[in-house]
Amino acid sequence: MDKKILLAESAGFCMGVSLALSKLDTAMSRSTQKRIFTYGPIIHNPQVLEYYRKKGIRIIDHWQNLESGDVVLIRAHGIPLHTEEKLRERNVDILDATCPKVKKAQLLIQKNSAHSDCLLIYGELDHPEVKGLLSYARCRAYLFENKHELKNLPLSPQIHYCLVAQTTQDRQEFLNIGQMLKQDLDQDIIILDTICDATKNRQTETIDIAKQVECMIVVGGRESGNTRRLYQVAQKYCPRCLHIETRAEIDPELISGLSRVGLTAGASTPDYTIHEIYKNLESILERH
Ligand code: SF4
Repeated sequence: MDKKILLAESAGFCMGVSLALSKLDTAMSRSTQKRIFTYGPIIHNPQVLEYYRKKGIRIIDHWQNLESGDVVLIRAHGIPLHTEEKLRERNVDILDATCPKVKKAQLLIQKNSAHSDCLLIYGELDHPEVKGLLSYARCRAYLFENKHELKNLPLSPQIHYCLVAQTTQDRQEFLNIGQMLKQDLDQDIIILDTICDATKNRQTETIDIAKQVECMIVVGGRESGNTRRLYQVAQKYCPRCLHIETRAEIDPELISGLSRVGLTAGASTPDYTIHEIYKNLESILERH
């Protein structure tokens, strides 16, 4: 049987990541005499962050470390509203690299939560995007990471809810949650479909490939929420599934002798990393 690597077409940088990095590159070429910072890691990929660290880009997590005239980029995941207000008070040059899809989710929350009693956010507790989204709520908000946590919330049919998701959540699970809430609460809750198209397409393609292979490899930063989710959805359809950041983590023993291996990558994984891993897999499969 022919040995084959099924590579996802959607693997690699999404629109939001490309946009954020191109804003950073432009800032670097235009502001050579200024200190340039990103507020939090601009994206969740350690190899890309290391590249920019070597070029002198510093990551900060507090506005107090900034001085007048500094350039600061808002990360692709966005930042909380009050942090942005503090930045504006520092007289620094702010470049907003928030992904347009995250910005849209922030503004949808701001608008719709003003007409709701309670906002329900399906997202990860410590994720920077989620902290930003929460800051736009104009009503009480509950955050939950899974159905189990949702079921433990003190929800009431008397209260008017608005449901929203972190942009990189599992789409199928979000749809299930929406249906479940409508039935349990017996009300037409507001559902804001904030999961971005890049995430939806990547997950759909990953599932499709995972169904056809003996081993699925998901490449991307361990801190990257969308990569972790890809790994979770892939695992449902292909139990032999690996989440790796670099080529060095591939164990040839695990791949050798297989006929079909799937390869996908998170939205913040550079093409050169994917290419290196593809080549490495190819050579392992050829040798065995
Ligand atoms: S995964 Fe979606 S929301 Fe996140 S940066 Fe990319 S396009 Fe934006």
